[in-house]
Amino acid sequence: MLDDLGNAQRTHSCGALRASDVGKTVTLMGWVARRRDFGPLTFVDLRDRDGVTQVVFNEEAAAEAHAKAKVVRGEYVIAITGEVVLREVAQRNAKLATGEVEVAAREILVLNEARTTPFQLEVGTSDALASEDLRLKYRYLDLRRPQLQANLRLRHRVVAEIHRYMDEQAFTEIETPILIKSTPEGARDYVVPSRIQPGKFFALPQSPQLFKQLCMIAGFDKYYQIARCFRDEDLRADRQPEFTQLDVEMSFATPEQIYALVEGLFARVFKLIDVELPVPFPRLSYAEAMRRYGSDKPDLRFEMELQDLAPALEGTTFAPFASALESGGEVKGLVVKGGAHLSRKALDELQEYAKRYGAGALAWIKLGDEVSSSLLKALGAEMIARMAETAGASKDDAVLIIAGKAKMVAASLGALRNEIARREKLIPENVYKPLWVTEFPMFEFHEDDGRYYAMHHPFTAPLDEDLPLLIRAIEEGETSLLGSLRANAYDAVVNGIEAAGGSIRIHRPDVQSIVFKALGLTMEKARARFGFFLDALEYGTPPHGGIASGIERLMMALLSIENIRDVMAFPKTASAADLMIDAPGEVDAKQLEELKLSIRV
Ligand code: ASP
Repeated sequence: MLDDLGNAQRTHSCGALRASDVGKTVTLMGWVARRRDFGPLTFVDLRDRDGVTQVVFNEEAAAEAHAKAKVVRGEYVIAITGEVVLREVAQRNAKLATGEVEVAAREILVLNEARTTPFQLEVGTSDALASEDLRLKYRYLDLRRPQLQANLRLRHRVVAEIHRYMDEQAFTEIETPILIKSTPEGARDYVVPSRIQPGKFFALPQSPQLFKQLCMIAGFDKYYQIARCFRDEDLRADRQPEFTQLDVEMSFATPEQIYALVEGLFARVFKLIDVELPVPFPRLSYAEAMRRYGSDKPDLRFEMELQDLAPALEGTTFAPFASALESGGEVKGLVVKGGAHLSRKALDELQEYAKRYGAGALAWIKLGDEVSSSLLKALGAEMIARMAETAGASKDDAVLIIAGKAKMVAASLGALRNEIARREKLIPENVYKPLWVTEFPMFEFHEDDGRYYAMHHPFTAPLDEDLPLLIRAIEEGETSLLGSLRANAYDAVVNGIEAAGGSIRIHRPDVQSIVFKALGLTMEKARARFGFFLDALEYGTPPHGGIASGIERLMMALLSIENIRDVMAFPKTASAADLMIDAPGEVDAKQLEELKLSIRV
């Protein structure tokens, strides 16, 4: 028989009681995290969102409550009333905020039962967790874990702080529609069929990009939104099909103003976890970041830069290196401090890792008591020594080397840099290293279809000084110039996580149409897709720019965690499914009929 809640009221949360509360009569309500039976004494750990309190049922002192406590199981919902008592010194639990006390229960209400949970909620370490698929199916149970509760409560505080800060900075939050037409951010759109206009579709916003620009044209001056975005793309550990971003746009903005705004915001947000973020953030151009770290989101918590080994290789006839250098490629290396201990197996694993990023092979030099190297036969001891010296390696270090096209060398060494840091434990805890990466390339050439794509999105302005080159490239047909144009685009990176990205936008219709041309979009096609926006540009568009910061990414940086699902309440799996609600699902024939759609499988 279950009890009614009646007029019972909580006096405290399960995380509140301290030694100073001893003697008080309290009422707590929550879930049974654990029950331990010792005959005349039964202990229950009672849990709510605030913490855990130990409750003790004593047969002698409260026989009825003690008998009733015997029926409760894990995750039953109960209310207890009793007196706060100090625990015996030996029984105190320093790991628990309430660990000095316990509640001697006089009464218990059993408010609800629970089935045996499909996995154990209370586990000591995250390694012991049940499989993530199972936890996602029963997400409401997984969310009872204190860790996820804490993550989501911090997320709430972060978003609340963002609202406060943006309001102080005189920004207006404006909601933009979810049912729209495609805005290009480089991913596929999620589409929604229209019933009223059969055969037509809405697209869900990949971001509110064009709407926020329209807000500038509309004269709002400073816009922001905590906005939902939807991107149908291949998922990775830090991506979800739907996510939330702080979306910002400012009129008459310079990059400096945007940097100052975001630095101020991040400083405030990191204060929530008692971290003083060093402002202003240092800056690196994209070209320099790629050259030194092989990444446009370098993790600066540890030293280790890519070293150009070409100077040491002059005159080499070793085919892989010689051909890379002759064809304009690179030979670069990473010095692993103290890496001479790396075993053959570890080196093989690192090579496999690098291959995922396109590397053909990973060569190595180890400066142990003797010098050993995978290149010894091919290059000879002298050149090996020169390479080690050029890399800046000393005794006991290892040098890991990749040769090939610059882009691949950067991608594979950049990824290897992070992997080595993880394996060799080079990443200090509780250290936060933000930076701006600036001057991104305007366009990216895709070899598979032989055309240029916008690296950020097609509304991003070139750097003022590169505009004449853009005009030349298009008007005089010198398309090869496109690859070297720089955009007025920037990313804020924290600990290797891209925490924000944005750009100054194109506000001149003539420049916008040149950029469309560069992207191979005819004016007709551009008009069909963004005609409304091109029209709007012609009615007095102020210079403007903005940025967006992914809330989940920001949370991952704050909490130093790698799984984006740990900072979302109801995430999707890597195959873009929601296992709890079993979505995506089928629709019934009537709905298809109304939409005038038929399914081909
Ligand atoms: N719309 C961009 C994005 O969502 C950000 C921006 O340019 O403001 O990534």
